[in-house]
Amino acid sequence: MGKQEEFVLRALEERDVRFVRLWFTDVLGSLKSVAIAPAELEGAFSEGIGFDGSAIEGFARVYEADMLAKPDPSTFQILPWRGEGPSTARMFCDIVMPDGSPSYADPRFVLKRTLSKAAENGFTFYTHPEIEFYLFKDTPQPGADPVPVDRSGYFDHTAQSSGADFRREAITMLESMGISVEFSHHEGGPGQQEIDLRYADALSTADNIMTFRTVVREVALSQGIWATFMPKPFTTHPGSGMHTHVSLFEGDRNAFFSAGSEYQLSKTGRSFIAGILTHAAEITAVTNQWVNSYKRLIGGGEAPSYICWGHNNRSAMIRVPMYKPNKGQSTRIELRTIDSACNPYLAFAVILAAGMKGIEEGYDLPPEAEDDVWSLNDRERKSLGIDPLPKTLYEAIGIMENSELLAETLGEHVYDFFLRNKRAEWEEYRGQVSAFERDRMLPVI
Ligand code: GLN
Ligand code: MG
Ligand code: MG
Ligand code: MG
Repeated sequence: MGKQEEFVLRALEERDVRFVRLWFTDVLGSLKSVAIAPAELEGAFSEGIGFDGSAIEGFARVYEADMLAKPDPSTFQILPWRGEGPSTARMFCDIVMPDGSPSYADPRFVLKRTLSKAAENGFTFYTHPEIEFYLFKDTPQPGADPVPVDRSGYFDHTAQSSGADFRREAITMLESMGISVEFSHHEGGPGQQEIDLRYADALSTADNIMTFRTVVREVALSQGIWATFMPKPFTTHPGSGMHTHVSLFEGDRNAFFSAGSEYQLSKTGRSFIAGILTHAAEITAVTNQWVNSYKRLIGGGEAPSYICWGHNNRSAMIRVPMYKPNKGQSTRIELRTIDSACNPYLAFAVILAAGMKGIEEGYDLPPEAEDDVWSLNDRERKSLGIDPLPKTLYEAIGIMENSELLAETLGEHVYDFFLRNKRAEWEEYRGQVSAFERDRMLPVI
């Protein structure tokens, strides 16, 4: 047994842990959990805990259903909302097959595999997400419009606001679980909040996002309100994005930084952006995986709809932030398409793979978009070489279906399952008759 495993076993006694929750994520990004007694943990570390993979979304076919969850001791934390002594702890798991090999269906493995590939080229991938979400007064009721907890807007400071109380408690809980929060504020929509996590390596960040969503839901419930990461809950208010700042490091040197270059952006940084732009339409089904995601990408509310980059241009899909004149180690790019309802492991994997492709192939970066691209017309955008992002989930999966990059990055199993599942979601949606259609047609036709 390694040092980390020993540390966890000692912590179980010291913190009076009675339940150990083993966490993992299905292909669509839902958190799964199985609780074991502390006495089972040694066995879980050495062999894993068996479960029926065919009952997990996207994991296995019934005839190859046996899988094992093996906890990663470096992710051990006490769950603060379950109280102390006796307490409950959690660890993220890697999923393995009965022969000990990694499960190709495990999104955490998909990300790990992509990170190792980048590591072979000397790069570590760092991410910093800005997570947006809405708070509602009540549990959602079918067919009813949700009521936001407040009517405030971007950066508003509101006296006795439930949003501020909520953020304070959620952040305290995240920090107690070792997740550092950098910023938090009210976002543009009524009841809409944003909390930004400190940058970390992409695997830790993806784990942290899964924890974040759980903490946010728990705190909301404890305060009698409801939190949602749905990308676009209202037609007339901004959606919830998860802008993600990304950078590559070579050892302890930021590989995107080059003093004296335009925007202090190195050749590596420029090719990385070019990679994401070139493959932007292919990765969108994963970074924006729901029918509803595309209602956010329509434009307005500062969500991007076109494939272009710019420095300080919030209408662009990639922004090179220029807050500080001497960015040095903090040089990074901000990807603005990705939404808060993605599977963070898969989304980070496809973003990294697209960027790395740009570096490997030495893609050239097209000129930046200097205008507000929403205000141009189609012809003007075309003459600037700016294409639109996929407009629907249907279009996005159609593009993904022809993407070698995606098939390779996700692996055959996840790629096939994902396409099948998303096609089914589209087919179900396509047949729905909406209030919009009735309201338009019944009175006149
Ligand atoms: N909510 C916006 C989006 O959907 C972002 C707004 C902002 O962070 N300025 O991307
Ligand atoms: Mg922000
Ligand atoms: Mg924001
Ligand atoms: Mg941002």
